Amino acid sequence: MKKIEKAEIITALLEKRYPETECGLLWEGDPYRLLIMAILSAQCTDARVNIVSKTLFARFPTACDMAKAELGDIENEIRSVGLYRSKARALKECCERLVSVYGGILPSEMEELLTLRGVGRKVANLLRGDVFGLGGIVADTHCIRISGRLGLSKGKDPLEVERSLQKLIPTEKQSGFCHRMVLFGREICTARSPKCNECELYEFCVNKDKDKR
Ligand code: SF4
Repeated sequence: MKKIEKAEIITALLEKRYPETECGLLWEGDPYRLLIMAILSAQCTDARVNIVSKTLFARFPTACDMAKAELGDIENEIRSVGLYRSKARALKECCERLVSVYGGILPSEMEELLTLRGVGRKVANLLRGDVFGLGGIVADTHCIRISGRLGLSKGKDPLEVERSLQKLIPTEKQSGFCHRMVLFGREICTARSPKCNECELYEFCVNKDKDKR
């Protein structure tokens, strides 16, 4: 079976398991919120980011508010997310540029997004997919681990995994595919002791039963 056919079947099986998917970050349809929450989510759970964001957005509801904020005030709001000092600086500088260069409106091009402090390819792809419907492979830890186990990508380099999956998953399916990878990675194909005996992708997996502890 060709890799692209395998990817198509895997995508369909994941869609069957998770008919509805949405980002774990509760961004309420506001691109500014998803931008901020995605930056905060590095090495932090979605649940924690959702909690912290409630008071953060009550205090700084727009990019302009965040750009004008005192660094210490941002730090105080996000203290529980970890790496809060560098994240606070990223939020402020990101919003300063968003306001001064883009009038507070999130740009959609990858090259433009990457000029915003705190935005790497993972965040940029998430934004392009969820905000603009432009697709994008979010090569996070779940995506890298599971696509590797399934033989859809090689290695752990996020850019290489992104490039491999770009070729295999149609643009309009990429965001959903990545959100489903997260759900599947939390429920079935966990980092330690994946539940291979419950896995509908078993026959397509090149790593089945290998990572069991
Ligand atoms: S068979 Fe096991 S390792 Fe392979 S995708 Fe399923 S749960 Fe993950």
